[in-house]
Amino acid sequence: MGKGFFNVPIAVNEPVKSYAPGSEEREAVAKAYKELFNTHTEVPLYINGKDVKTGNTKKMSPPHDHQHIVGEYHLADRTHVEKAIATALEARKSWSQMPWEQRAGIFLRAAELIAGPYRAKINAATMIAQSKTVHQAEIDAACELIDFLRFNVQFMTDIYHEQPESTSDAWNRIEYRPLEGFTYAVTPFNFTAIAGNLPSCMALMGNVVVWKPSDSQIFSAKIIMDVFKEAGVPEGVINVVFGDPVMITETVLSSPDFSGLHFTGSTFIFKELWKQIGNNIHKYKTYPRIVGETGGKDFIIAHNSANSKQVATAISRGAFEFQGQKCSAASRAYIPKSLWPDVKKYVIEDVSSFKQGSPEDMSNFVTAVIHEGSFDKLAKYIDQAKNDDAAEIICGGNYDKSKGYFIEPTVIVTNDPKYTTMCTELFGPVMTIYVYDDADFSKTLKLVDSTSEYALTGAVFSTDRYAAAEATKTLENCAGNFYINDKPTGAVVGQQPFGGARASGTNDKAGSAQNLLRWVSPRMIKETFVSPTDYRYPFLG
Ligand code: NAD
Repeated sequence: MGKGFFNVPIAVNEPVKSYAPGSEEREAVAKAYKELFNTHTEVPLYINGKDVKTGNTKKMSPPHDHQHIVGEYHLADRTHVEKAIATALEARKSWSQMPWEQRAGIFLRAAELIAGPYRAKINAATMIAQSKTVHQAEIDAACELIDFLRFNVQFMTDIYHEQPESTSDAWNRIEYRPLEGFTYAVTPFNFTAIAGNLPSCMALMGNVVVWKPSDSQIFSAKIIMDVFKEAGVPEGVINVVFGDPVMITETVLSSPDFSGLHFTGSTFIFKELWKQIGNNIHKYKTYPRIVGETGGKDFIIAHNSANSKQVATAISRGAFEFQGQKCSAASRAYIPKSLWPDVKKYVIEDVSSFKQGSPEDMSNFVTAVIHEGSFDKLAKYIDQAKNDDAAEIICGGNYDKSKGYFIEPTVIVTNDPKYTTMCTELFGPVMTIYVYDDADFSKTLKLVDSTSEYALTGAVFSTDRYAAAEATKTLENCAGNFYINDKPTGAVVGQQPFGGARASGTNDKAGSAQNLLRWVSPRMIKETFVSPTDYRYPFLG
């Protein structure tokens, strides 16, 4: 920036629209859904600002109607990935020198495009691709992505404002340089907002990007790219490739110019990528930045002072919205014996009242899980629970994949706090509950802390402040996002920066300045106004 210290618009969270019957937004999204559902969409790779059709394609279907084809996407081979890298490096020459306010302008424009002309379309695409209800699509694809884009611009300027002290004879300043080389974004299926944020926040900081979305999110990823193109992201700055994740990743990570990985997905895959980066470390020109937000086994613990209805509602929403496929979804709960009869009654009432089916019918609260692999895995754990003495299914337990991948919201009660579904991330609408003796609250907190390898989100319900304080202390390392008297899902950008530690990730907090700092390499510049002309210090005298 050469000609002014510009202020950016103050970021505010995008208001969530209601989609109530008769509302304008409901009509718009229903229309967009119909259009997208009944059109054959072709999704090319996007390299150097151009659509690339390879002719090698795969079909896309909604999880709730897997025989219906909504389009196809093109698959990259190694040469396309190499082209994407070369293109990104070429684009870096101009993009890394682009004044920050120009970069900010592009991504603020992207936010407004999503808030306005693209809102219905990106929500409808997310309903189709990831089988989200209209409310889940709105809080993700529209609101959270808009928030990421707006807040990141503000955080970028906060970072640039961080400057060292100077003296009258020397001026110290820090430049927040983009990383040297190119960066790699690998995104999960479950949030359109994450898919948009991972590549765009690195690009905002002046980096160039190769982006590989999840196969199950390509239909909505296309709308993100349409928005970025229309917002004016220059050619080569964000390049998108689809296809074999192993081949794409291997090609990217073996480039000497690879300088950063921004990953969200499962723990196992992230560890594999970290290992590959380690194995290639002698090849790289710079130490790559590695950021990964990964799995969770998120919990709710109730103290016997808690309100049973509130606990039950937190379970119903926290475990079953979006079919339990939020990384923050509650999947294990610890309820004291004295509250259990009430909590059980309310949870069963809630779950039995859920309507399940296509998101096109907006009265449905739950829809389908993402793909057949996920469906089969969940069905296997449910069958196991039906046969295990340590487990009892108190509601749900059925599944059907004849039309879509529908798993009935299921609640398992176990008498073994280390039962397999208390420890393993299932990523579906399955909640396991362990009922503990009221007197064992402190012991149960230790159990919560030691049961799983993850540490993403968790919640305590208590009206007793001492109990809440004890839980906060004992569970200090057990969740990167910890909630008191609230469900553990629904983090909002700018309000609850998100991420966990242990096996849940590097905890670089998506939607915060801390995350953006990982994508810059500061250069300290000291300028001395009158340079010394004699090496001798006075003490030598
Ligand atoms: P996933 O690990 O299957 O896939 C994530 C990405 O990695 C996709 O783009 C996929 O194509 C790619 N990938 C898969 N195998 C790969 C390989 N061998 N090499 C390179 N890339 C590979 O995860 P998912 O099913 O898309 O998402 C669900 C997971 O993501 C859950 O574990 C969830 O907890 C986690 N998640 C975490 C957060 C968070 O903020 N902590 C947010 C969302 C999702």
